[in-house]
Amino acid sequence: MEVHHNVSINKIAWLKIPNPGVIKNLFIPENRAELEELCCKLYSEKKQFDVIGHTSNILYYSTYNPENVVSTRKVNFYSVHDNVIECDCGVNVSKLSREMVEFGFEGFEGLIDLPGTIGAAIFGNAGCYDCSITSLLEYCELLRPDGTIVRLSKDDLELSKRSTVLKRKEVDGIILFAFLSKRKGDPTKLQAVADINRQRRRITQPGPAKNLGSDFASVGKVTLKYRILMLLCRVYYLLYYLKIHLTRRQITSFILKIVGHRELIPYLEWGWNRFIWKDDSAFVLFNAYKKLYLSFFQNDRLEIIEKK
Ligand SMILES: Cc1cc2nc3c(=O)[nH]c(=O)nc-3n(C[C@H](O)[C@H](O)[C@H](O)COP(=O)(O)OP(=O)(O)OC[C@H]3O[C@@H](n4cnc5c(N)ncnc54)[C@H](O)[C@@H]3O)c2cc1C
Repeated sequence: MEVHHNVSINKIAWLKIPNPGVIKNLFIPENRAELEELCCKLYSEKKQFDVIGHTSNILYYSTYNPENVVSTRKVNFYSVHDNVIECDCGVNVSKLSREMVEFGFEGFEGLIDLPGTIGAAIFGNAGCYDCSITSLLEYCELLRPDGTIVRLSKDDLELSKRSTVLKRKEVDGIILFAFLSKRKGDPTKLQAVADINRQRRRITQPGPAKNLGSDFASVGKVTLKYRILMLLCRVYYLLYYLKIHLTRRQITSFILKIVGHRELIPYLEWGWNRFIWKDDSAFVLFNAYKKLYLSFFQNDRLEIIEKK
């Protein structure tokens, strides 16, 4: 197993940050047995540790200096059995999905460009284009802090939008591996759907760099304040440009100007729920963005995980 000491957070962070903190011990196990043994040891010694996949859903702050971090990225073996697909927690979701689409297995055609690992996709109930790893899940095995291993089904995870009992911290543990269902479909049709989904993502979303996917889980209620601002926005463009269909960029920049947050415009070019950390100032402005977002979309919750 690789072990590194005193490494910069930016060595593992998807989103590189200015003035990164330092990880005292970074463990990179090579396989499931090593991961299990390491986590059992850390648990039994009552050591605090973070388990990470590709960190595509984690925002690190420069004040964060973790003692122990365990990366699952090399725990990435998978095999196709008669009725199921067995995946280690560190299997790359997009790579697996592309291969499963080629083999003609249903349920992966929306996931070919979803960043991250199988373990994290289960942890956070990640998904897109009508597909998710949890909808394919037969069961996964979870290593509990007391060293026992329990089997969790989809029902045990108590799924909600981009959340599970694990993400809500109602249950603690490390997902070691998962069995996914294998449903035979038509490879040509599945590939065609996958290609359409890829195209949709390319048109409607920014590239993978400098963002962490949707910032919020989008379960919030649109506030009256936001409705009024939208109305003003439509009237403005109708009167001055006779444009009936407004782009996300037009709406956000108009509203940001009205509410006195012009400085956020460059970071919200892809809409309210996709903050782009395009420069160092973004890390300072992110808090103002969160406050403003929650004043528009009540009771929403942050989808990304903040490490402060
Ligand atoms: C450009 C971009 C686009 C995205 N698009 C989407 C999208 O369309 N839909 C969507 O749902 N998400 C999307 N995301 C978010 C991200 O892809 C998912 O949240 C993904 O599941 C995170 O995987 P990861 O391996 O990077 O997890 P990490 O960010 O490393 O970890 C996320 C959380 O999972 C926990 N975790 C990781 N592995 C395990 C394990 N084995 N056991 C227990 N806990 C674990 C970590 O402790 C952490 O709390 C996007 C992100 C980016 C950057």
